[in-house]
Amino acid sequence: MKLQICQVGEPVLRQAARELSIEEIKSDFIQNLISYMKTTMHDAPGVGLAAPQIGEPLQLVVINDRPEYHVNIAPELLAQRERTVVPFHVIINPKLVIEDEEDGVEFFEGCLSMKGYVGKVRRARRVVVTCLNELGEPVKIKAKGWYARILQHEIDHLKGNLYVDRISDIKTLMTMENYFKYWQ
Ligand code: ZN
Repeated sequence: MKLQICQVGEPVLRQAARELSIEEIKSDFIQNLISYMKTTMHDAPGVGLAAPQIGEPLQLVVINDRPEYHVNIAPELLAQRERTVVPFHVIINPKLVIEDEEDGVEFFEGCLSMKGYVGKVRRARRVVVTCLNELGEPVKIKAKGWYARILQHEIDHLKGNLYVDRISDIKTLMTMENYFKYWQ
Protein backbone atom coordinates (compact mmCIF):
# COMPACT_ATOMS: atom_id res chain seq x y z
CA MET A 1 0.00 0.00 0.00
CA LYS A 2 1.20 3.45 -0.92
CA LEU A 3 0.78 6.17 1.70
CA GLN A 4 0.38 9.89 1.15
CA ILE A 5 3.50 11.94 1.94
CA CYS A 6 2.82 15.04 4.09
CA GLN A 7 4.08 18.32 2.68
CA VAL A 8 5.68 21.17 4.64
CA GLY A 9 3.06 23.00 6.69
CA GLU A 10 1.49 19.79 8.07
CA PRO A 11 1.87 20.17 11.87
CA VAL A 12 3.07 16.54 12.25
CA LEU A 13 6.29 17.47 10.40
CA ARG A 14 7.13 20.01 13.12
CA GLN A 15 6.37 17.82 16.11
CA ALA A 16 8.80 15.60 18.06
CA ALA A 17 8.09 11.93 17.36
CA ARG A 18 7.73 9.46 20.25
CA GLU A 19 9.68 6.27 20.88
CA LEU A 20 8.25 2.82 20.18
CA SER A 21 8.20 -0.03 22.71
CA ILE A 22 9.45 -3.51 21.75
CA GLU A 23 5.83 -4.77 21.91
CA GLU A 24 4.74 -2.04 19.50
CA ILE A 25 7.62 -2.81 17.11
CA LYS A 26 6.45 -6.44 16.95
CA SER A 27 2.80 -5.47 16.44
CA ASP A 28 0.98 -5.94 13.15
CA PHE A 29 0.36 -2.20 13.04
CA ILE A 30 4.07 -1.29 13.01
CA GLN A 31 5.12 -4.24 10.81
CA ASN A 32 2.47 -3.23 8.25
CA LEU A 33 3.48 0.42 8.55
CA ILE A 34 7.11 -0.52 7.76
CA SER A 35 5.99 -2.41 4.67
CA TYR A 36 3.79 0.51 3.50
CA MET A 37 6.59 3.01 4.16
CA LYS A 38 8.98 0.86 2.10
CA THR A 39 6.54 0.83 -0.84
CA THR A 40 5.92 4.58 -0.47
CA MET A 41 9.66 5.40 -0.38
CA HIS A 42 10.41 3.24 -3.43
CA ASP A 43 7.48 4.71 -5.33
CA ALA A 44 8.43 8.36 -4.59
CA PRO A 45 11.35 7.55 -5.27
CA GLY A 46 13.43 8.46 -2.23
CA VAL A 47 16.41 7.17 -0.24
CA GLY A 48 14.71 7.58 3.15
CA LEU A 49 11.31 8.14 4.72
CA ALA A 50 10.49 9.01 8.34
CA ALA A 51 7.14 8.10 9.96
CA PRO A 52 6.13 11.77 10.55
CA GLN A 53 6.24 12.21 6.76
CA ILE A 54 3.34 9.81 6.41
CA GLY A 55 1.49 11.40 9.32
CA GLU A 56 2.64 9.15 12.21
CA PRO A 57 4.65 10.95 14.96
CA LEU A 58 6.73 7.83 15.71
CA GLN A 59 10.52 7.34 15.86
CA LEU A 60 10.60 5.07 12.82
CA VAL A 61 12.60 5.51 9.60
CA VAL A 62 13.14 3.40 6.48
CA ILE A 63 16.29 3.84 4.36
CA ASN A 64 17.39 2.39 1.00
CA ASP A 65 19.81 3.96 -1.49
CA ARG A 66 19.27 1.62 -4.43
CA PRO A 67 21.76 0.86 -7.24
CA GLU A 68 19.16 1.91 -9.86
CA TYR A 69 19.19 5.44 -8.38
CA HIS A 70 22.88 5.74 -9.24
CA VAL A 71 22.83 4.78 -12.94
CA ASN A 72 22.01 8.28 -14.20
CA ILE A 73 24.45 10.06 -11.89
CA ALA A 74 28.01 10.72 -13.12
CA PRO A 75 30.57 8.53 -11.29
CA GLU A 76 32.57 11.65 -10.27
CA LEU A 77 29.45 13.14 -8.63
CA LEU A 78 28.83 9.87 -6.77
CA ALA A 79 32.48 9.82 -5.66
CA GLN A 80 32.43 13.48 -4.58
CA ARG A 81 29.35 12.81 -2.45
CA GLU A 82 30.77 9.49 -1.18
CA ARG A 83 27.47 7.99 -2.26
CA THR A 84 27.25 4.21 -2.24
CA VAL A 85 24.44 1.66 -2.28
CA VAL A 86 22.69 1.27 1.07
CA PRO A 87 20.50 -1.84 1.46
CA PHE A 88 16.96 -1.47 2.78
CA HIS A 89 16.85 -1.21 6.54
CA VAL A 90 14.73 0.14 9.38
CA ILE A 91 15.76 2.50 12.18
CA ILE A 92 13.73 2.82 15.38
CA ASN A 93 14.34 5.11 18.42
CA PRO A 94 17.69 6.37 17.07
CA LYS A 95 20.40 8.30 18.92
CA LEU A 96 22.79 10.07 16.58
CA VAL A 97 26.33 11.12 17.44
CA ILE A 98 28.43 13.30 15.14
CA GLU A 99 32.00 11.97 15.10
CA ASP A 100 33.73 15.27 14.33
CA GLU A 101 31.84 18.59 14.05
CA GLU A 102 34.72 20.06 12.02
CA ASP A 103 34.50 17.31 9.41
CA GLY A 104 31.55 18.56 7.38
CA VAL A 105 30.55 18.75 3.73
CA GLU A 106 28.10 20.98 1.89
CA PHE A 107 25.85 19.61 -0.85
CA PHE A 108 22.40 20.21 -2.28
CA GLU A 109 19.71 17.99 -0.77
CA GLY A 110 15.97 17.67 -1.06
CA CYS A 111 13.06 16.17 0.85
CA LEU A 112 9.94 14.26 -0.18
CA SER A 113 8.00 16.62 2.13
CA MET A 114 9.19 19.67 0.16
CA LYS A 115 8.56 18.23 -3.25
CA GLY A 116 10.43 19.76 -6.18
CA TYR A 117 12.94 21.85 -4.19
CA VAL A 118 16.60 21.50 -3.16
CA GLY A 119 18.96 23.62 -1.07
CA LYS A 120 22.57 23.50 0.02
CA VAL A 121 23.06 21.98 3.48
CA ARG A 122 26.21 21.38 5.48
CA ARG A 123 26.23 17.97 7.19
CA ALA A 124 28.74 15.99 9.21
CA ARG A 125 30.69 13.46 7.10
CA ARG A 126 30.69 10.75 9.73
CA VAL A 127 28.04 9.74 12.27
CA VAL A 128 27.30 6.89 14.64
CA VAL A 129 23.67 5.88 15.17
CA THR A 130 22.47 3.51 17.86
CA CYS A 131 18.92 2.29 17.37
CA LEU A 132 16.64 -0.73 17.16
CA ASN A 133 15.92 -2.65 13.96
CA GLU A 134 12.50 -3.91 12.76
CA LEU A 135 12.80 -6.90 15.12
CA GLY A 136 13.45 -4.66 18.12
CA GLU A 137 17.12 -5.70 18.29
CA PRO A 138 19.80 -3.12 19.18
CA VAL A 139 21.96 -2.00 16.26
CA LYS A 140 24.97 0.31 15.95
CA ILE A 141 25.55 1.98 12.58
CA LYS A 142 28.77 3.74 11.59
CA ALA A 143 28.18 5.77 8.45
CA LYS A 144 30.05 8.24 6.29
CA GLY A 145 29.40 10.36 3.23
CA TRP A 146 25.94 10.39 1.67
CA TYR A 147 24.66 7.63 3.98
CA ALA A 148 25.64 9.79 6.98
CA ARG A 149 23.70 12.66 5.34
CA ILE A 150 20.61 10.47 4.87
CA LEU A 151 20.75 9.44 8.54
CA GLN A 152 21.08 13.06 9.71
CA HIS A 153 18.22 14.17 7.43
CA GLU A 154 15.85 11.40 8.51
CA ILE A 155 16.63 11.63 12.21
CA ASP A 156 16.02 15.40 11.97
CA HIS A 157 12.46 14.53 10.86
CA LEU A 158 11.92 12.74 14.19
CA LYS A 159 12.68 15.99 16.03
CA GLY A 160 10.38 18.08 13.86
CA ASN A 161 13.26 19.55 11.85
CA LEU A 162 13.47 19.94 8.07
CA TYR A 163 16.57 20.43 5.90
CA VAL A 164 15.49 23.99 5.11
CA ASP A 165 16.14 24.86 8.79
CA ARG A 166 19.80 23.99 8.16
CA ILE A 167 20.37 25.86 4.90
CA SER A 168 23.16 28.31 5.71
CA ASP A 169 22.49 30.48 2.65
CA ILE A 170 18.76 30.58 1.91
CA LYS A 171 19.59 31.87 -1.58
CA THR A 172 20.62 28.29 -2.46
CA LEU A 173 16.98 27.15 -2.14
CA MET A 174 15.68 26.43 -5.64
CA THR A 175 13.47 24.19 -7.73
CA MET A 176 14.99 20.88 -8.78
CA GLU A 177 14.43 21.90 -12.38
CA ASN A 178 16.62 25.00 -11.99
CA TYR A 179 19.19 23.07 -9.98
CA PHE A 180 19.71 20.71 -12.95
CA LYS A 181 19.55 23.63 -15.39
CA TYR A 182 22.07 25.95 -13.74
CA TRP A 183 23.85 24.49 -10.74
CA GLN A 184 24.68 20.81 -11.08
ZN1 ZN B 1 12.92 14.58 4.31
